[in-house]
Amino acid sequence: MISLPLDEATERLRSDFLSWLKDNPPPSTEKRIELSEFVDVSTAWQRKLASEHWIAVHWPEEYGGRGLSFVAEAVLQECLARARSPQLINLFGLTMVGPVLIEHGSDEQKKRFLKPILEAEEIWCQGFSEPGAGSDLASLKTVADKVDGGWNINGQKIWTSFAQYAQWCFLLVRTDSSVPQHKGLSYVLVPMSSDGIDARPLTQISGDQEFNELFLEDVFAADEHLVGSPGDGWKIAISTLMYERVILTFARHLQSEEALEEIRQQLKGVDNPHVLAKFGSLAARNMALRSLALSHLVQYQDSSPGPEGSLDKLAWSETFQDICSFALELQGFQGLLLGGEASHKDGLAQHRYLYSRGRTIAAGTSEIQRSIIAERVLGLPRLKRGA
Ligand SMILES: Cc1cc2nc3c(=O)[nH]c(=O)nc-3n(C[C@H](O)[C@H](O)[C@H](O)COP(=O)(O)OP(=O)(O)OC[C@H]3O[C@@H](n4cnc5c(N)ncnc54)[C@H](O)[C@@H]3O)c2cc1C
Repeated sequence: MISLPLDEATERLRSDFLSWLKDNPPPSTEKRIELSEFVDVSTAWQRKLASEHWIAVHWPEEYGGRGLSFVAEAVLQECLARARSPQLINLFGLTMVGPVLIEHGSDEQKKRFLKPILEAEEIWCQGFSEPGAGSDLASLKTVADKVDGGWNINGQKIWTSFAQYAQWCFLLVRTDSSVPQHKGLSYVLVPMSSDGIDARPLTQISGDQEFNELFLEDVFAADEHLVGSPGDGWKIAISTLMYERVILTFARHLQSEEALEEIRQQLKGVDNPHVLAKFGSLAARNMALRSLALSHLVQYQDSSPGPEGSLDKLAWSETFQDICSFALELQGFQGLLLGGEASHKDGLAQHRYLYSRGRTIAAGTSEIQRSIIAERVLGLPRLKRGA
């Protein structure tokens, strides 16, 4: 865990939050639970935190935050990690569409959507990827045609996490096919209860059904639910992805802290120097990455996130996978058991390992992050297609 030198007010905030957490401990993450149970537990936990304004403290006060800095928010997240809080349910709302609305949304949209995001009254999902458009997102084919008072949407999204639990979706759609690909996109907010939306869960390698296929047939999106102007979709989508890679990745550090803590408990009494050295090196790597991610949060205090978020996302996801693999190695043959009485903690580490596999794909694959780092952080020349 990182210790930050803090000003007096932030130090007070931290100590107030730690004492609040003592009286209001987070739900346990020690036991493996089904996704639907996690959704209930995590929703109740987010509501409790929000009722006392302990989340998104960097959001403006009028929208439920405290108008504090990213550093204050990061300090509270450190406290959550230390208390072994589960991941908050409305991650896409808190770390993607929320910041995007604060930056690009109309006053009405901010008033309408931000508080219910904080209070987990409305869970959000992200409708970007399509069967033929993942890394090459600008080639997406879901269309929105202008109709009276709004837009008529037809198409298909895929890998839409938590769509079956969400009340709203932020969708990237094509509103103009006559201009270059990325100029014809728009960003719309759609209620998941709309006629014509069909979410079909997909089973992942972990056995969970976290993501879905999302079919959209004549779905109506009202004009007031378009963010920015028609054609602004690409710019706002990139902004969403930057927030995802910086702020969401920082929040995901809760998951690596949780995994490392499990290993630490397992290692009590172990004196094999190779095992301890490996644990030390993973813990040190994790701490260094968390510091790097934190420095990016501080850097983006007064501006929108930039491409450095790709470093955070790449390094966090690959390190998280290494931590999860090490946890299984430590179990020897028992590491092969997915669950049941003979397994360690009903296969908690196995489930986490399988879950971790998707993290180098979600939010942009490692290959895509490496290209962004090469071109936009290091300034290396762009590779020509086919070279
Ligand atoms: C757990 C999980 C949750 C997800 N949740 C969501 C969600 O909620 N909402 C949403 O919209 N999407 C979501 N996604 C989708 C995710 O964003 C895409 O899977 C990802 O962007 C990759 O796109 P793709 O699957 O189409 O793969 P492709 O783009 O087809 O890539 C296939 C392979 O080719 C490589 N590749 C492709 N283009 C290049 C290139 N230019 N240079 C080098 N290599 C390249 C990729 O790295 C990859 O290895 C989720 C994915 C996962 C795994």
